[in-house]
Amino acid sequence: MGNIFSRLFQRLFGNKEVRVLMVGLDNAGKTTLLYRIKEGSMIKTVPTIGFNMEQIEVNNLKMQVWDLGGQTSIRPYWRSYYQKQEALIFVVDSNDRERFSTAKTELLSILQEEELKNTVIAVFANKQDLPEAASAAEVSLALGLDSIKDRTWTIISTSAAKGDGIAEGFEWFLNALFSHVILYLHL
Ligand code: GDP
Ligand code: MG
Repeated sequence: MGNIFSRLFQRLFGNKEVRVLMVGLDNAGKTTLLYRIKEGSMIKTVPTIGFNMEQIEVNNLKMQVWDLGGQTSIRPYWRSYYQKQEALIFVVDSNDRERFSTAKTELLSILQEEELKNTVIAVFANKQDLPEAASAAEVSLALGLDSIKDRTWTIISTSAAKGDGIAEGFEWFLNALFSHVILYLHL
């Protein structure tokens, strides 16, 4: 696992620092995902500083993690952290159908944020190891992802618990961010 991430990050980021914002409702699996990414990698960890914020640095990747939903009062704080993000990961508990609509509302509102207008977006349909979990297609429908226009986005089936899909997610970022660079350079 560590080797895969190291190689991917090296290819993806080279010497350039890339900032990734990971958000989602509480219990979606963000912290578990974070530990998946950390383990076996050459990392510096930065301890949590309140407000349900965690961050890690892996090679040239800086990742910030925030819980959303039911915590509107902390928004001004996390908003100040997410400037100049290049990639957004939105984690969904695919087993928690009751909160799909809350997740949808939170995702739509975060996509409106001015500072996040240029990010590429990967929705992680997490907890796919659970037998009753909604498929990525169901999650996509429930969150209305088809209505996301003029943005580069994808949905990826993951299991943070098992470590499935995470490498694929970052592989997708590799390609998406590369395409963005090409676009910006008008090559
Ligand atoms: P966070 O609030 O988004 O940071 O979520 P956590 O990472 O703390 O995970 C919340 C709960 O879901 C914990 O009990 C995790 O063990 C569990 N969990 C996280 N990811 C998965 C997954 O992929 N599959 C299963 N079955 N459980 C998961
Ligand atoms: Mg957490």
